[in-house]
Amino acid sequence: MPSLPQNDPNQEQRQAWLNRKRQDYAYSPTPSLPPLPQIEDLPRYEGFSLKYQLRRDEATFKLVLNMIDVIARNAFDSLDKLEEYADYFPVLSDPSSVKTFRYDIEFARQRIAGANPMVIERVEDKLPDKFPVTDAIFQSIVGGDKTLESEAKQGRLYLTDYALLDGLAPGKYENGIKFFAAPIVLYYWQSSGFRDRGTLTPIAIQLNQNPGANSPIFTPLDGMQWLVAKTFAQIADGNHHEMVSHLGHTHLAIDPFPIATARHLGENHPLGILLRPHFEFTLAINELGRQQLLSLGGYGERLLAIALEEVSTLVTKSVETWNFSEFSLPQELKRRKVDDPTLLPDYPYRDDGLLVWDAIRKFAVNYLSLYYSSAADIVNDFELQNWLQELRAADGGRVNGLPEQIENLEQLTQIVTQIIFTAGPQHAAVNYPQWDFMGFIPNMPLAGYAPYPTNKEAIIREADLMKILPPHKQTTTQEQLMYSLSAVRHNRLGYYQKNTFDDPRALQVIEKFQHQLNDVEVQIDSCNSRRREPYKFLKPSLIPNSLNI
Ligand code: MN
Repeated sequence: MPSLPQNDPNQEQRQAWLNRKRQDYAYSPTPSLPPLPQIEDLPRYEGFSLKYQLRRDEATFKLVLNMIDVIARNAFDSLDKLEEYADYFPVLSDPSSVKTFRYDIEFARQRIAGANPMVIERVEDKLPDKFPVTDAIFQSIVGGDKTLESEAKQGRLYLTDYALLDGLAPGKYENGIKFFAAPIVLYYWQSSGFRDRGTLTPIAIQLNQNPGANSPIFTPLDGMQWLVAKTFAQIADGNHHEMVSHLGHTHLAIDPFPIATARHLGENHPLGILLRPHFEFTLAINELGRQQLLSLGGYGERLLAIALEEVSTLVTKSVETWNFSEFSLPQELKRRKVDDPTLLPDYPYRDDGLLVWDAIRKFAVNYLSLYYSSAADIVNDFELQNWLQELRAADGGRVNGLPEQIENLEQLTQIVTQIIFTAGPQHAAVNYPQWDFMGFIPNMPLAGYAPYPTNKEAIIREADLMKILPPHKQTTTQEQLMYSLSAVRHNRLGYYQKNTFDDPRALQVIEKFQHQLNDVEVQIDSCNSRRREPYKFLKPSLIPNSLNI
């Protein structure tokens, strides 16, 4: 039965268990992404189970058949026409973006319901000076005599700014260097007159951070140049997605928590019992990720636009600047000023995410109150306080934004909610859309293979776009990676293996959580029936308990 350390009669046994764990989970003196913590050796029992491996093989079986077919067909052929990218799915069903990728509203929709709904921010009163879109440009797209200033004041202007890619060294491939931009994109929320209806549309794209003669502002009136500008915006978003939103802010941000939990929460600590299923195979997938994505010759180097050293630096920086309190879902939405549904009524990631967040928060408080009946119980839980200190420590987890001490149930609930949300739903929201949006390469290539236009006079044809898009080899590599990462769902949020919990009161709380998740599912289905396209990535039935792929 669960027991807080201060009430446990078997102190010696408890301590002996923790001592063994601290040996099993020793910090490495030479982590692969210093100063981010990493354990020296993955304990064998943290490795993927046979069941997991079989599930992964089963999920990727069709991919193998698909690629045999693709490679046989394309062996002597090069890519000359855009439509040939749709021929990469002889066995697999098409990713959803095959049909939609050229549409402007689908481009904008990816900012609120795509693979990376983490970048879009509301313009508060005016556009930044570095992005001099004029009223005349704005009116040429939206019509009428609306000004940017008045529309910004009404909360209808949105931006995605990929400044973090500015000035980074490009990656290389067998025929030269790769290309990318550090774009800024302006979007406009066009209300249809009904309270919750409208569309987000792209208005303008500037492909680099310095305005001027060599940095024109492209608009939907620019034909093929506009498609190329959108493609470079997608390349930037795809790179931001993999390095920051996916690897940095879920996989590696959560990494210190399973380590500190193993080292500090006793075998029957109620919080340890609760969290362990949410960390299943996380250390194993992160070890694999470090090897396959961030190593020389790995996927990062083969696919991403920037040089491998820059990839490591950017990933490390994104984890170091991840701040626990600023990145709770409600705070993070406020940070980007996209938390008000009256201003931006359509934001599926936000709306579904908050429903799931709330269900987890209720579950956490119900579960934790079974074991902590007063603030003193929390303050006196020395294992919990040591866990917190190690997570904060410079020679431990290095997690920013955690409180100095956990003083009450509300604070503890907040922390637990965010850990479970990041491990399950947040990772699901950025991981599983990879196939739909990045499996069809022209929608979101991870690098350009020819430069972007620097003046509006250049005439661009399909053949020029084909030079920018990835060649056959990079296309198949990206396709395979995106499919393998999206195809595995090992388990389901709120459903635990038998014998994980042996306290009958906890089992009741879990049952209640499952009911609440089912209610959320019904609410999301009902929202989806009103949305132009359904958003499925935060449906509780499709969210795993832990980050393991
Ligand atoms: Mn993942």
